[in-house]
Amino acid sequence: MEEKIPELVRIYKGFEENSRELKQGLACNKGCSFCCKEAGSIDITTLEGLQIRKVMNEMPRARQKTLTKAFRQEIKKREAGAVVPCPFLMKNNACMIYEARPFSCRRIYSAHVCTRKNPPAVNRRVMDMADDTIKELQKLDHTGYSGHLSYILYMLSVPAFMETYEKGDFKPEEIMEFGKSHKIVINKMMGQ
Ligand code: SF4
Repeated sequence: MEEKIPELVRIYKGFEENSRELKQGLACNKGCSFCCKEAGSIDITTLEGLQIRKVMNEMPRARQKTLTKAFRQEIKKREAGAVVPCPFLMKNNACMIYEARPFSCRRIYSAHVCTRKNPPAVNRRVMDMADDTIKELQKLDHTGYSGHLSYILYMLSVPAFMETYEKGDFKPEEIMEFGKSHKIVINKMMGQ
């Protein structure tokens, strides 16, 4: 599965290049973390999750432990209906996995400084381009799934699931219950 990561990076770059002109005048600045705190759902594919796990595995053990705990807490709070900041967001408002951040974070920008009452304003053509890019990502990961960051990372931490996924096998019945209750979608059905 890892051999697909260069193609994943190519898709990210393609979107960045094709949308650059349309994003002129964007208000996003280093240190703004509105989207990381207020996004609600940060949807990723399993392949993006695999790339993020690679980065996590290279972190110091203490940080890995802290993150595991933060993700567990995030899942509990989400399930209680709270909007929770992304566990990868650091105290200085920087992203811990910036180079490997998923497409959900790459697609979003705003033409004005955001507040809760004034959420991100995105060009319609950029939104359409982003929707097409998601289809490309799901097609690339056609034996995988898409869903909120924490749930996909949780699935990849389950050895039986990881084994099936890494072999390129497709057994949606393995995640049936978890998938239904956590709004996980099957990429094969989406990325057409
Ligand atoms: S992965 Fe990084 S950029 Fe994306 S929401 Fe989390 S902290 Fe923000």
